[in-house]
Amino acid sequence: MSHFDLIVIGAGPGGYVAAIRAAQLGLKVACVEKESALGGTCLRVGCIPSKALLESSAKYHEAKEDLAVHGIKATSVKFDLKTMLARKENIVSELTGGIDFLFKRNKVSRYQGLASFVAANEIQVGEETLTAKNILIATGSKSSNLPNVEMDDDIIGDSTTALSYSKVPKHLVVIGAGVIGLELGSVWQRLGAEVTILEYLPRILPGMDEEIAKEAQKLFKKQGLNFELGVKVTGVQKEGKEAIIQLEGKDPVKADRVLMAVGRKPNTEGLNLEMIGLDTDKRGFVPVDEHFQTSVKGVYAIGDVIGGAMLAHKAEEEGIACVEQMVKGYGHVNYRAIPGVVYTEPEIASVGYTEEELNASQRAYRKGLFPYLANGRAKALGHTEGKVKILADAVTDRVLGVHIIGARAGDLIAEAAIAIEFGASAEDLARSSHAHPTLAEIIKEAALAVDKRAIHI
Ligand code: FAD
Ligand code: NAD
Repeated sequence: MSHFDLIVIGAGPGGYVAAIRAAQLGLKVACVEKESALGGTCLRVGCIPSKALLESSAKYHEAKEDLAVHGIKATSVKFDLKTMLARKENIVSELTGGIDFLFKRNKVSRYQGLASFVAANEIQVGEETLTAKNILIATGSKSSNLPNVEMDDDIIGDSTTALSYSKVPKHLVVIGAGVIGLELGSVWQRLGAEVTILEYLPRILPGMDEEIAKEAQKLFKKQGLNFELGVKVTGVQKEGKEAIIQLEGKDPVKADRVLMAVGRKPNTEGLNLEMIGLDTDKRGFVPVDEHFQTSVKGVYAIGDVIGGAMLAHKAEEEGIACVEQMVKGYGHVNYRAIPGVVYTEPEIASVGYTEEELNASQRAYRKGLFPYLANGRAKALGHTEGKVKILADAVTDRVLGVHIIGARAGDLIAEAAIAIEFGASAEDLARSSHAHPTLAEIIKEAALAVDKRAIHI
């Protein structure tokens, strides 16, 4: 039996970051991960491989469609899917191997296997028993499915299957117009698939600012993605090498691949939570207080498994706050300052309140908009689609929300997140010097537009 100050269950971005921070703070730490590679959903089958394919497919599309305007003649542009997939796998193995290295450097003991509670301070991993003063559950999430649908992880599969199709689908039907559906739908559409996205709600990207989501849908449609909104999928059956997707009140749709992208659910499988009397909520999430403490003393939880935004950086912030609270007595996550990014073309990024949330809470706000079209750098890049929208308190001018659709929105949003974290006003953003010519000037101009004094429009 080995004893630790802290055992972390799960080596995703929540768990591995928490383990490293706890070790930095002087704790004797073990991290148990059931998979052979560290890094969790994010590094193995999520953020990283999807971004690798988004990048490769964007380069192919750019070479084929967008270079001519620069006077560059790229004729008979082709791609080799095998190379593209191998590149993705290499990036994944370099990064997951990097976590192994970080664990060794920080003296985090790694155990491979499924962790199961024996008592509140004791877990079993294969033949080994580990005990600790505190145990942190960071077991993440897994894909949701629809009732009456059986995934074969081939014709009908989730994001993990769609990250490794061995050939480009002829017709890919994506169920769900959320982040996964749009990112992976874009990858295969750029590589030549006909892509149809079926969404239950009357809009795409639920939860994101509606004005921005509407503009996104227009642009994605122009790129060739087909949307059917407000449709309910009632079943999916395999028929030979095809799938038939049944829709309520509509004709069925046929596809050679179906990507189920209807959300993710908490993963507590195999933990044996009943043994320690730890109940999940009705959706399966592990309830915690503001210090990530569960109802069982000494047992904590963070990341996707506790609910909220299912984002890698949210899990990381929680992991750090949780162990800092354990050791130092304080640790905090500002959920309003956590950005979200959709890595499509153009990118979509947001932080803080949406306009719908401000209206619902009857908070008075002023709004500044500035288009990419009026920005010199955007013109030089050849990416003039999109805009920045800043929402600021009508009385204090404090920045409440920033929403961006346009090139490199995912990088631009960092400035907005810092503004919100530091309680900055739109005037602060407007008065800060932004290098010329940069896309960041669009943020400055949108901040000026809050006070109706944008210069270049
Ligand atoms: P996870 O990363 O899910 O890690 C949990 C780990 O626990 C897993 O490795 C699992 O094997 C292990 N585990 C589970 N149970 C046990 C057990 N009993 N014993 C031992 N080990 C166990 N987020 C972003 O912020 N940006 C993105 O671009 C992004 N892209 C994504 C793309 C896709 C296709 C997907 C599916 C997700 C994406 N996400 C993205 C979401 C992101 O991956 C998750 O929010 C993040 O991984 C959650 O981190 P976590 O540490 O809570 O859990
Ligand atoms: P999501 O919640 O973003 O979207 C799921 C979509 O499926 C919703 O629009 C929902 O209305 C729709 N849906 C549900 N049931 C349906 C039905 N029966 N028929 C048709 N549509 C239906 O979930 P996701 O796209 O699967 O992503 C899962 C999680 O992973 C998200 O929480 C997301 O934050 C995270 N993720 C993040 C990134 C990123 O940060 N770039 C990328 C990928 C995934």
